[in-house]
Amino acid sequence: MKKTLSAEILSVGTELLLGNTANTDARDISVYLSELGINVFYHTVVGDNPERLTKAVNIAKTRADIIITTGGLGPTCDDLTKQVLASAFGLKMEFHEELAEEMKRYFKEVLGVDSMTDNNLQQAYLPEGCTVFHNEWGTAPGCAFEAEGVRVIMLPGPPRECNAMFKSCAMPYLRALSDEVIFSHSLHIVGRGESSVEAQLRDMMNELTNPTLAPYAKEGEVMLRVTAKAATEKEAEALTLPVIERLKAELGDVIYGMDVNSLEQVVFEKLREKKLTICTAESCTGGLISKRLTDLKGSSEVFKGGAVTYTEDSKVRVLGVDPATIEANTVVSPEVAMEMAENAREIFGADIALATTGLAGPDGDGVHPLGTVFVALATENETYVTHISGGIGRSRVRMFAANCALDMARRCLDGLPVIVDYFKK
Ligand code: ATP
Ligand code: MG
Repeated sequence: MKKTLSAEILSVGTELLLGNTANTDARDISVYLSELGINVFYHTVVGDNPERLTKAVNIAKTRADIIITTGGLGPTCDDLTKQVLASAFGLKMEFHEELAEEMKRYFKEVLGVDSMTDNNLQQAYLPEGCTVFHNEWGTAPGCAFEAEGVRVIMLPGPPRECNAMFKSCAMPYLRALSDEVIFSHSLHIVGRGESSVEAQLRDMMNELTNPTLAPYAKEGEVMLRVTAKAATEKEAEALTLPVIERLKAELGDVIYGMDVNSLEQVVFEKLREKKLTICTAESCTGGLISKRLTDLKGSSEVFKGGAVTYTEDSKVRVLGVDPATIEANTVVSPEVAMEMAENAREIFGADIALATTGLAGPDGDGVHPLGTVFVALATENETYVTHISGGIGRSRVRMFAANCALDMARRCLDGLPVIVDYFKK
């Protein structure tokens, strides 16, 4: 069996150490590397300091097959990644005339500047014998070389450039190192925590080697990635399918999709397919459900509109909720949530309405536990309501409530039971 390659990401930049900039490049590259089946064992961050960078490179070469650096490729004097890496591997720097020309063209055509300062030419020097990674998104080129049995890849720091260059240059370069193809499918789960999913699947995860199964926690969601290696993509995919079936049997309808972008995207597509429309009446979620739906391109096809009715008075004036319902049940109640949904459906003329009313915190109402949210869904024939205990923290409660509402819509559109109790935990 082939050895799985391991990588170390070496992020260069004092701003990363100071906490001014989050190291999103390392995070993004790690995701891409896992798609390639390359293990990431270390993330190292080092400031713009040649001695410390040299030390970090010398450590990295003893423990990684691939070193990927980010940042420090630019024209300013603190940008010294290339020089330090070249000298750490005993390589000279080489001037690339065509890169200098490319840079001049970029200044003229993209930036509209006729002359560029000489320090920019420093970027046209790269370690001798390297593979050049052209930068179509900025000026600093990246590169890759092999020395002392280690592959080194250097990418610029700006996230837009780093991501684009990883995908278009580093990915094919790394793929070519292996004669195996990696393929993965991802299952998306809402309404269950990572630890409970992991506990349920632990035996399966330990037992599997090809494909492998790994959970990833996302905000309020869990993603399960099934990754296989084989000679061709088709064979690799075939290896993943029995595991996908097993997972579906094991977890059931908490899986809202495979290889999908988001829960709202799934809801949007189901609505469009069935030629149905949706609207919202939101209190504690403050428009979050509407935002998530309208973030999607083409949402006007399915989204009729939404009302954020935060006070009792607005619930009465805008949505026509009966003050007696509020009086009898308090505003955070299943009755109010249902009336909000039913009335919104009429007002907006939509097929489905979603409504939320609850306590995002930190102040309570002395009646309900903090984080209590009632979520309702109304259709022409039926109104459903459930309650969640979203836990502590405003943003968490709101996100859970929005997930719950969108998932109720998904369930309703799929003909599944609309109310499930997994949000109650
Ligand atoms: P440039 O040509 O822009 O100088 P560079 O390769 O020299 O590119 P840096 O100067 O190190 O890159 O960083 C440029 C910008 O990218 C800075 O705004 C920095 O905050 C951001 N950046 C650098 N490294 C990272 C990282 N690892 N994650 C996220 N952002 C980063
Ligand atoms: Mg820098």
